[in-house]
Amino acid sequence: MSDNGKVKQHIPKELRYSVRNFHAEFPNDDACLESLKESRWPNGMAMCAKCGVERKHHRVGNRPAYACDYCGSMISPMAGTIFEHSSTPLKLWFYAMYLMGSTRCGISAKQIQRETGVTYKTAWRMFRQIRRLLSDGDLQLEGSTVEVDETYYGGVRKWQHGRPGRGDKKKSPVVALVQRGGKVVARAVPDVSGKRLRRLINKHVTPGSTIYTDEYFAYRRIPEMRDKHGKDAHYKHFTVKHSANEYVRDGHIHTNSVEGFWSLIKRGIGGVYHSVSQKYLQTYLDEYSFRYNRRHDGNLQFKAILKRASQPL
Ligand SMILES: [Zn+2]
Repeated sequence: MSDNGKVKQHIPKELRYSVRNFHAEFPNDDACLESLKESRWPNGMAMCAKCGVERKHHRVGNRPAYACDYCGSMISPMAGTIFEHSSTPLKLWFYAMYLMGSTRCGISAKQIQRETGVTYKTAWRMFRQIRRLLSDGDLQLEGSTVEVDETYYGGVRKWQHGRPGRGDKKKSPVVALVQRGGKVVARAVPDVSGKRLRRLINKHVTPGSTIYTDEYFAYRRIPEMRDKHGKDAHYKHFTVKHSANEYVRDGHIHTNSVEGFWSLIKRGIGGVYHSVSQKYLQTYLDEYSFRYNRRHDGNLQFKAILKRASQPL
């Protein structure tokens, strides 16, 4: 995605990581295990519980474990990670992560099943576990131009910008804050009251930033907001009047970046997942945000996923 919401086709050479590169780097389960070990304990140096000091560890034949060079106590690089207690070969886990990190629009458990040859149940479990890793948590948006917008998921019409109709309790509000040219934070929220929106802005937007929204009344008190220390947050606020069919004013007053993000996730839900239960809405948003926030990383998103998967949960 470029900043105006259009999909970029070209991936620079240094950001390409093809399926051939993947199989060359991770030819088998042993190579995957070694990669997990190196990520967690570089050069095999790890704390040995028995010795009470850091010791070099070596691979134990026929077991996915490493033993202390001094006393023989064993440790497993899979302990505490999503791979622990899984009977699925590591190489298939890695391949599933590669697939999830290589698509622009997302991939379904069904596609993982097809590509890896595991059962649907296993594919679904891997998919869920990998997706758990994709939250960017309490990301602070950098820079000084942020667009904030809200939408609704669920109910009769799946995605809808306007407020839900009376009695349509199935709709879940979603708020997105997008740094122009930068990252996104997207949250499934219980409501889109002014208080809720201001709390999100306080948490994720640097004081002094310029904030662009539509004319929804709950945004009106942004210029009066205080920062975490109770001082004037100096937010500048511009609204675009979508109700008057206004989409850009004075060249800079628009919400095109956040609209681009919405279209990305709508395409994903429509094309890949078909529908998302309320329970999974936030993890779904996390996955798309993760991808959006690394849209300039080409196929190297896989490496970012792998890095997180290598660490205990
Ligand atoms: Zn030891």
